[in-house]
Amino acid sequence: MIKINENFMNLQDSYLFSTIAKKVAEYTEKNPDKKVIKLGIGDVTRPIVPAVIRAMKKAVEEQGTQEGFRGYGPEQGYDFLRKAIVENDYKSRGIEIEEDEIFVSDGAKCDCGNIVDIFAQDNKVAITDPVYPVYLDTNVMSGRSGKWDEDKNIYENIVYLPVTAQNDFKPELPKEKVDMIYLCFPNNPTGTVLDKKELKKWIEYAKENKAVILYDSAYEAFITEENIPHSIYEVEGAKEVAIEFRSFSKTAGFTGLRCAYVVVPKKLKGYTKKQEEISLNKLWNRRTCTKFNGVSYVVQRGAEAVYCKEGKEQIKENINYYLENAKIIKEGLEKSGYTVYGGKNSPYVWLKVPEGMTSWEFFDELLEKYNIVGTPGSGFGPHGEGYFRLTAFGTRENTIEAMERINNKY
Ligand code: PLP
Repeated sequence: MIKINENFMNLQDSYLFSTIAKKVAEYTEKNPDKKVIKLGIGDVTRPIVPAVIRAMKKAVEEQGTQEGFRGYGPEQGYDFLRKAIVENDYKSRGIEIEEDEIFVSDGAKCDCGNIVDIFAQDNKVAITDPVYPVYLDTNVMSGRSGKWDEDKNIYENIVYLPVTAQNDFKPELPKEKVDMIYLCFPNNPTGTVLDKKELKKWIEYAKENKAVILYDSAYEAFITEENIPHSIYEVEGAKEVAIEFRSFSKTAGFTGLRCAYVVVPKKLKGYTKKQEEISLNKLWNRRTCTKFNGVSYVVQRGAEAVYCKEGKEQIKENINYYLENAKIIKEGLEKSGYTVYGGKNSPYVWLKVPEGMTSWEFFDELLEKYNIVGTPGSGFGPHGEGYFRLTAFGTRENTIEAMERINNKY
């Protein structure tokens, strides 16, 4: 008899995006004449930039020649890409990362999910709340969560770190000892950031408690303010305690192409039950070589082109386009009296729903009154209740029109 991994029975169904889709479909069916503007999506909409397309075309042509053909590539990624990452994402910011500390992958979602393989089941996990759901669900699947508490809407064995307006979206250090800490900045869904001083606190905590920080900086390209770190390794001591996840998805529109990378510094150690130090870089390398056969050559050549002069300029244009949308949303909402967070170093705008309303009630109102779709904050965790996420990934025209509708109370 085949037995299942019963941890999966402990997962809570996420109805967030399916409920949104259902509500929108029902509304459009009843009101076919209304133009619904979708500002709920977390996917990019701008096409891949010409420099990347050119590099990929060239790589495709190479595949049809005897000299240029490539079969399996290195599981960790081609040297040309690892080198470009080291030079452009790290060295340029004064950070020393070595090429064999970079592992190229097909997405930060997979990386954030797969990383749990190298950690023991009895580690205590801390997540910020609200949160990108992948961190939580992958730990539920691997048996670290404890039981679901129906009344509180939380798992018994997970340490939830609220990030709300009350603490200025800065998670407080846990009162108890935790081993795996998920931090994501610029944050999805709140769009808020942490400065070096705040990150330093976490690095010190992790050092004292021999914990690991799993730092997701998938949105670093949207940082506009000088004092905000793009990488956790900009903060002293981070290489001893942190793994960093990066992605080309939001940076360069690779959500469909698929390319990302993880940094696992060689200084970073985990421990056996007997307290022996083990290199996490070695473990992750072993895991990668066993379970992964690398990202396609063509896509890696495309990712490399993100770092050429033209690529950088073209990508910056797209990022600025989204950032301008975020500004339009932020200012538009403020003009109508909403309290708004994020949207400055992030494509996400997080707003406080009017007093006395739930996130879902606000969703309904926005859809029915203004024909605008966003994402209810409560879908990202209990401390997301009372908030709402709008994204800057729509078109300029739709973004402007959405704000005009709200401002003119149409
Ligand atoms: N991390 C965060 C915080 C995200 O919001 C997303 C996607 O929305 C990802 C990772 C996934 O990135 P990728 O497309 O590289 O899998």
